[in-house]
Amino acid sequence: ASAHSKRKRTFKVIIVGDAGVGKTCLSFRFCNGRFPEFTEATIGVDFRERSVSLEGEMLKVQLWDTAGQERYRQSIVAHYYRNVHAVVFVYDVSDPKSFASLPAWLEECDKHGLGQISEVPRILIGNKCDLEVPANRVNTDAAQIFADRNNMALFETSAKKESEADHVESIFMTLVHHLHR
Ligand code: GDP
Ligand code: MG
Repeated sequence: ASAHSKRKRTFKVIIVGDAGVGKTCLSFRFCNGRFPEFTEATIGVDFRERSVSLEGEMLKVQLWDTAGQERYRQSIVAHYYRNVHAVVFVYDVSDPKSFASLPAWLEECDKHGLGQISEVPRILIGNKCDLEVPANRVNTDAAQIFADRNNMALFETSAKKESEADHVESIFMTLVHHLHR
């Protein structure tokens, strides 16, 4: 077969949300199969990929995440938001501020043509559900209402907790199945 026919179909998925919510760790969990020992704050764009087999076809899943403040760096941002197949919004369940930032992230995506009418699938992940529940934990019902209103599926999980590893896997794989249709 020619090189061309062997080229894998590639899905570009971007992960957005405030700095520190666990975007890099979720990406690492899905692409490397474990929680990273160390993470440095993402500088610029963080990129990871994994091949998956679906119905006998090999596909490439690219996960892109960026530092929160990159929102304001237009040169990086334009490149980042190009040719996107799906968007994963992430907040930290123990950090209400990261939940309150979601409308700004939605607006940012909207601005780059990834809004509700674009038909680019979007999901919402409440990460760090392994943490002791603080009094001000983001309320699941409130998150569900927000997700419903914005046409996103909501998942609460943890990039860190080993017993959530299968859940993280299934969240991303469900998205890939959806993109493959
Ligand atoms: P990013 O800025 O969104 O990419 O966040 P990182 O993936 O770099 O994670 C930020 C911090 O949160 C790091 O110290 C991680 O170890 C920690 N972290 C990430 N995911 C989880 C999680 O599921 N549970 C807990 N307890 N900590 C997490
Ligand atoms: Mg990061």
